Amino acid sequence: MMLPARITTSAVILISFLTLHPFTSAQSNAASGKLSVHWEELTAADFRQGIERSQGTCVLPFGILEKHGPHLPIGTDLLDVRYAALHAAEQEYAIVFPEYYFGQIAEARHEPGTISYSRDLQLKLLQETTDEMARNGCKKVLIVNGHGGNESLLPYFAQTQLNQPHDYVVYIFDKLSPPKGGPAKKTKIDMHAGESETSNMLVARPDLVHMDRANSESGADQARQKIPEDVYTGIWWYTRFPNHYSGDGSAATKELGEYQMNWWINSIAKTIQEVKADDVSPRLQKEFYEKSTHPLDTRP
Ligand SMILES: [Zn+2]
Repeated sequence: MMLPARITTSAVILISFLTLHPFTSAQSNAASGKLSVHWEELTAADFRQGIERSQGTCVLPFGILEKHGPHLPIGTDLLDVRYAALHAAEQEYAIVFPEYYFGQIAEARHEPGTISYSRDLQLKLLQETTDEMARNGCKKVLIVNGHGGNESLLPYFAQTQLNQPHDYVVYIFDKLSPPKGGPAKKTKIDMHAGESETSNMLVARPDLVHMDRANSESGADQARQKIPEDVYTGIWWYTRFPNHYSGDGSAATKELGEYQMNWWINSIAKTIQEVKADDVSPRLQKEFYEKSTHPLDTRP
C-alpha cells in the first residue's frame, strides 16, 4: 500500500585477519571489495567485515503481504522496498536484513493471501528483531518502510524505544514517492496498486504485472463514510476502497516507474550516508536514558 500515506582501522583488522585466516572466503570477498549487502548471503567472517564497512549501519526493508488490486502480486510492497533498499545499499554500503513483512494490515483481512499478525506480535517481533540486529553490531538500524499501513506503527515503535535503554538507535525512512517532478501522472486517485505502484513494479518485477487485468475491478473511491474528514476510524479504508484497490493501474508506465524508483534508491542511499554520519542521536539518547533514571535531578 502506498498512502499519501575507518578505513585505517578496517585495513588493520583486515590485514591481521587475512594473516590469521589465509584461506577463508572473507579473503577473496574483502580483498576484491565485493561484500554482499544481503545479510543472508554473507559468511560469518564476511558479516564481521560488513559491520565494519557499514560502520554498524543496517537496513531493515519493511514490506507486507496483501492484495494489490487485480493485477499486482501480493508481495508488491515487499518486492518494491527490497529492490530500492538493496540498490541503495550497493551505492552506500550497509547490510540489508532478509525479507520482513510482519506489519500492520488488518484492513485487508477480507482479501486472499493477507498475512495479518496481532498488534502485540508486530511490536514484539520488531523489537526482538532490532535487538538481535544490534546484538550483532547494527548500532544504527534504519527501517525503510514500503507499506502505507505501517505509517503509524513505525513512529510509535521508534518513540517507545525511549521506554528503556538500548545500545542502538532506530531510524525510520518512510517516504515512498517523490514529492514532485517526473512524468506527469494521468490519474488523480492513486493510493494502492494504482498508477504509481504499478509503474514501480514495471521496474522491480515486470514479469509479475498483469496489465490486462488492471481494469477488471474498480479502484474508484466509493466515498461511503459520512463523517467529518478529521474524524478517524479503522474502517475508513474499506468504506472507500472495498476491493483493496485505489486508482487505476492501467495508467502505469515504465518511465514513471524508473523516475520514482531512481528517486527512492537515491533517497535511501543518501539517508544511509546521513545515518552513518549521525553521532548526535546515539550520544544524546544515551544521555537521555541516564537522566531518565533520576528525573528530579533534571533542571533547565
Ligand atoms: Zn503497496
